[in-house]
Amino acid sequence: MEEEKQIKNEQEQCPSCGGRLRYSPEAGALKCEFCDNIVEIERLKNQEKHNYVVNPKDDEQHDSYAAQSKVFKCSSCGSNIVLNALEVSATCPYCNSPCVIDQNVDIGLKPDYIIPFKFSTTQVKELYTKGMRKKWFIPNKFKKSPPMDHIKGIYIPTFAFDSHSESDYVGVLEEDYTTTDSEGRTQHHTRSFPISGHVSLNHKDVMVETSTHITQKTFNEIKPYKTEDAVKYKPQFILGYSVEHYEKSLADCKKTSDNMMEQAIRSTALSRYSYDRVQSYSQTTKFSDEKYAYYIVPTYRFNYKYKDKDYTTFMNGQTGKVGGGVPRSPIKITLFVLMILLILGGLIALFVLTD
Ligand SMILES: [Zn+2]
Ligand SMILES: [Zn+2]
Repeated sequence: MEEEKQIKNEQEQCPSCGGRLRYSPEAGALKCEFCDNIVEIERLKNQEKHNYVVNPKDDEQHDSYAAQSKVFKCSSCGSNIVLNALEVSATCPYCNSPCVIDQNVDIGLKPDYIIPFKFSTTQVKELYTKGMRKKWFIPNKFKKSPPMDHIKGIYIPTFAFDSHSESDYVGVLEEDYTTTDSEGRTQHHTRSFPISGHVSLNHKDVMVETSTHITQKTFNEIKPYKTEDAVKYKPQFILGYSVEHYEKSLADCKKTSDNMMEQAIRSTALSRYSYDRVQSYSQTTKFSDEKYAYYIVPTYRFNYKYKDKDYTTFMNGQTGKVGGGVPRSPIKITLFVLMILLILGGLIALFVLTD
């Protein structure tokens, strides 16, 4: 009981007026809702990763983390949300339904690091509008004033992996080339050539999301997150925000990360050649020095209806990069396709005429 009281005092109450403290991105510290008093949070920068093992044991800090946090489950959309144990009422950041404490979900691993939210509400709206204007085929009306009625700041769970890889590859690539015959006509040919070689790569901070609501595709769109700004996780950093509990296991995320690393190796190998098509390619990889850390990273989620359809757009809460589903203007897409066809048609006509 005594300990619980202490947690409450440390985390939630303003030392000068007893008011409620919330994390303020502008201040980079806790701010009292009543008297604007600022309470600094100690920022520990050192970011070491754990050696990867299949079922990591909870570390010695696990018990205090489990005491300070509870997992809530949304009965409507199924999200698992981690909240401060002292937070009494919880609504789902995704669908606004009330959440209930889920006794069955283990609190699991404690986040190692957090990248705190960076922007004020005004900055968030500006960055979102700016990000939307950069998108292609967005309806003009929408571009001028994107709807922003439901903005939620949510910390997304991610595992970041490091490793070293040594890979051998073999394959066959194809290259197109042209020759001119004695009558001046152009001939098109294709030649294929075998490749083989070795790639050694160091992979750092390959981030895999493990949220129920953001897909890896959307997550890749709003990446990167700059891990140099991350600090050691402390419950004070999340006051006023929601944190989603991790959904996929560390082992599942490791598989996704291995695939992403294999892709990077393949790109490195293929970038050594000039070619038009890959006829065949295979590589065998040995990973070593495999490490991981559990990060929670800031995202803003924008949920809105446009012409009776639901859209969800995400924004990186550290860089302001926007991704995810956005409305498209069918007229703009049709005009673009017509333009491409016209250009292609023109080029073909040019070739036929000059041949
Ligand atoms: Zn105060
Ligand atoms: Zn929900």
